[in-house]
Order: sequence, then structure tokens, then C-alpha cells
Amino acid sequence: MSISDRVLNGEELDQQELIALLDPERPLLPLLHEAYQVRSASFGNRVQVHILNNARNARCPEDCGYCSQSAISDAPLQPYEWKSNDEILREAREAHRAGAYRYCVVASGRGPTNKHIERLAEAVREVKKEVPVEVCVSVGLVDEAGARLLKDAGVDRLNHNLNTSESHYEKICSTHDYQDRLQTLAAAQSVGLQMCSGLIVGMGEQDADIAEVATELRRLKVPSIPVNFLIPIDGNPVLSDGSLSPQRALRVLAMMRLANPRSEIRVAGGREGHLGAVEALALYPANSLFVEGYLTTKGRGFASTYRMIRDAGFVVERADGAIADWDEFGLDDEYQVEGSREILKPEVLVQIS
Ligand code: SF4
Repeated sequence: MSISDRVLNGEELDQQELIALLDPERPLLPLLHEAYQVRSASFGNRVQVHILNNARNARCPEDCGYCSQSAISDAPLQPYEWKSNDEILREAREAHRAGAYRYCVVASGRGPTNKHIERLAEAVREVKKEVPVEVCVSVGLVDEAGARLLKDAGVDRLNHNLNTSESHYEKICSTHDYQDRLQTLAAAQSVGLQMCSGLIVGMGEQDADIAEVATELRRLKVPSIPVNFLIPIDGNPVLSDGSLSPQRALRVLAMMRLANPRSEIRVAGGREGHLGAVEALALYPANSLFVEGYLTTKGRGFASTYRMIRDAGFVVERADGAIADWDEFGLDDEYQVEGSREILKPEVLVQIS
């Protein structure tokens, strides 16, 4: 029986089988086909688009080595304090107009104060009153009382990534630990907030670490899993470990899909830089992505991302379940090569004497 049939029949792949999926000798296209069978059973060809709003930038006292907002990063960021509620609402409207299924409000820091939670809750109430978009919040460590306030305000999901395995965690952060992360997810779950939690690959982890995160997220029944590929930001202590070929990135996505068949698998930070020419293939295992960049780095914009989704045979799903009409986005379908129209100008390539 094929792996996808086993997974669709409810079988859980064990740790060794998940590690084997990352073997670079394993043919990639059949693996993507297996992942696609499982992806399409729950999500068809639909893609959910997420847009991030970095509501508070930098000045974080924590020491997460991969993060340019940390106290130990030398990245030249322009810090800013919490955006106003008006700004958060305005950007939610823009995100919805641009086709977003989900609007993710993120803030740097170990965790929000009560005052910040209340203020964020008020912003979310305003967004939910007016904008038909799902709202996710990612604000660091949150306890049950904070999670309840956010839930009551209308937050749909709370994000807190595991990032890596428990044993590898101490190599990327010392100011909080893996158990702190699990507690935030438990707080979300206890008040009925959907959990969103994923990982970052390319930080010196082994295949077994990635498989461990995949099985831990399965154990926790996390319905939304962002898969980040480390963006090597100058000034950060943890830069890329050199492991992330485009094929490796695709194998990680396929493995996460086969380990978590019904979860939303998101091709997240770093997709542009690490997947390169095979970026569209990420949609075979993954059913969601971010557009317009990440917290402190730029990514692909709407037009080229939507063209990629459309041209690969997928569709964009709105928060109400409707399929977006490509005409809404005014995609420029002119013949073009890397955005240049020069190709349309004939020129003499060979001189015949
Ligand atoms: S990941 Fe979050 S907690 Fe860690 S340094 Fe960055 S902003 Fe701070």
C-alpha cells in the first residue's frame, strides 16, 4: 500500500519512517505526489493566503538566535512600539482586499503585559466587527487569562512555534525553554483558541529533530503548522547551516504533510530564497502561504505569488470559503521575462556575413 493510502486510512507514520522521507536519495517527485494525495483529500487545490502585520518591532529581551528582533542580534532594525489600533484595522482592511484568508498580528517580546493584551483585544474586536477575515495573534508567551481575553475578543488562532525539537532548543535560545512554549499552546487550547505552531529548519538540527517536531505537533493535534526556512539575516547569531537546498525544503514540507494529514501546512518564512525555481512545487504538500514578506524581511508580493498559485493549477480560498476570482487581483498577464519587456524587442542575434 502506498504511504498516502496508509496515511489516508488513518495510520500514523512512526519516527523512523518520517526520517526516511527526508533521505536525499529518495526520489522527490513520487514523494511530492504522495504528499499531494493527502493534501488534496482535505484541501483540494485551495490555497489560503496569510498576511502578517508586525505590530511591535524589535527591542525584545529574549535571545532567540534566529531572530533579528532579539537582544543579541546586531541586525540594523528600526524599532517601534505597538502600532495604534487604527493602523491595525486599516492594515486588516488592506489584507482582506488583497485576498487574505487570515490576518496575523505579531508583536516582538517575551510576552505581552496585561495592558497590551487588553489593547490588542480591543483592536481585534474592531477588526472582527468590520473585516471578514480570520485573525491570528502571535505575541510570545501567553497564560490562560490572556488567552481567554483574546478568545473573547474574537481571535481565531494563537500562534506559538515550537521551532525545533526539545533537545535542540537550548542551542537556539536560553532565555525561555521548550516547556514555556508548550504551556502557551496549552493555554490556547484550554480556552478553545485554535493552535498554530510550527518550526524553523536550517538551524543545525538533524533529521530526527524535524521528525520529532512533526510527531509532537501531531500529538498536540495542532491544526495549523507553519514551516519556516531560516532566513540568514546579517547580524543574527544563528545563520543558515547550509542544509537548505530547494529539494530539502520540499522534502520537509512533504514530511510535515504526511505526518499531519489534516493540518494546514504553511510554506512560511524563507520560501522565496530557499525554494527558488521550484517554489510552486511547495503547493503540492502545503495549502497555505504568506504573501508580502515576513516580520523584518521582504517576500514576494501579491501579483507574482497569485500568478504562481494560478499557473500551478491552484486557487485562492477566502475566509468565507469562497474561491477568489482572479479578475479581482488585476494580474498583469503580459508576456514577460523577469518583469522585463525588452524581450519583445527583436534584435539581431547572429550576424551573417
Ligand atoms: S522570536 Fe520572539 S521572543 Fe524570540 S527574540 Fe524574537 S521577538 Fe523575542
